[in-house]
Amino acid sequence: MIYLDNSATTAIAPEVLDVMLPYLKEEYGNPSSKYYSLAENAKKAVADARQKVANLIGCEEDEVIFTSGATESNNMILKGVSDFYSNKGNHIITSKVEHPSTIETCKYLETKGFKVTYLDVDQYGRVNIDDLESLLSSDDKPILLSIIWGNNEIGSLNNIESISKLCHEYNVFFHTDATQVMGKVDVNIDSTPGITFLSCSAHKVHGPKGVGACVIRKNKLGLKTKITPLLHGGGQENDYRSGTLAVHNIVGFGKAAELAKDNLEQNSHRLHDFESQTKSLLIEKFGNDIYFNNDETNKIPGLISLQLRSVNNELFIRKVADRLAISTGSACSSTKPSHVLAAIGKDINEVRSTLRITLSQQVDMEQLSKIIKDI
Ligand code: PMP
Repeated sequence: MIYLDNSATTAIAPEVLDVMLPYLKEEYGNPSSKYYSLAENAKKAVADARQKVANLIGCEEDEVIFTSGATESNNMILKGVSDFYSNKGNHIITSKVEHPSTIETCKYLETKGFKVTYLDVDQYGRVNIDDLESLLSSDDKPILLSIIWGNNEIGSLNNIESISKLCHEYNVFFHTDATQVMGKVDVNIDSTPGITFLSCSAHKVHGPKGVGACVIRKNKLGLKTKITPLLHGGGQENDYRSGTLAVHNIVGFGKAAELAKDNLEQNSHRLHDFESQTKSLLIEKFGNDIYFNNDETNKIPGLISLQLRSVNNELFIRKVADRLAISTGSACSSTKPSHVLAAIGKDINEVRSTLRITLSQQVDMEQLSKIIKDI
């Protein structure tokens, strides 16, 4: 069986597992304790992992807040900013193609009296910079803008540099969900001062599940950007996120981030290459029955969203499940299309024939070629 659902999750890298194991066995200390070696070792391990994650993202170490994953990070920023800055305004801007952990949090905030603008997107799911500028320059200036960096269903990259420039110019907090782009595109936010917050998750970059990070950048004066914490308690993570740190997971995330940084170029090239090989194989097999939903360029490498005309995606996925692990790429029920595909103008039939293939460096292309020919 070939695993082609790497946007859902990835296999843990052997090097990651190796560094985690001691922290699940003998090194069980709590990093918030002091002086004895178990505690000090745990503290050092967390500091080292934090440095590696910061290095991948291009931020300072104390700007990395460990969370349980990107769902928590997105909730933390949207709820935390809305609550803390509610005296400054009640308008939030996001887009129609965000991950459910952003969209559903925004819907919740609407029930609490916030006004949310869900920006329309183009045929590939990108927000329009001019639309955004007119909103940012209007009297109804938002307290927060939250826009996904790379889309998890169709892979398009937003123009994060231009968006962050606008946010910097109009002095608006900008949050980006970078979960799907880590290790695949260069996420160096050092040169993008307009990004105030960023969410990511370890299990999308060959790290463990249940750990992620939220980056909270300091302000121009080097002071902490304040938000209301999602979790109150013992004050861990600089009071931003209480709870005993999951040292084993954090250590694993650190190693995964280090590997992602070291292999970024090679990984991204290989994914580009595997993507074009896979597309050619599919075209050879399915000819005119195939239609690609995603853009050719400016996208997450290795993510293919396609329609197999007159094929029901659920039935197809089930049929090939013993040979290929792929997905529809959306939480679409039989009556309701994926919000992403709907936002880019796909009708219910197009949605029902959409498949998402997400590759990794480990894919055996020879074996994949045989399987596709045999389907
Ligand atoms: N944002 C995006 C873009 C995602 O793809 C995902 C995972 N599907 C998440 C957020 C949620 O991440 P996690 O599984 O770490 O909660």
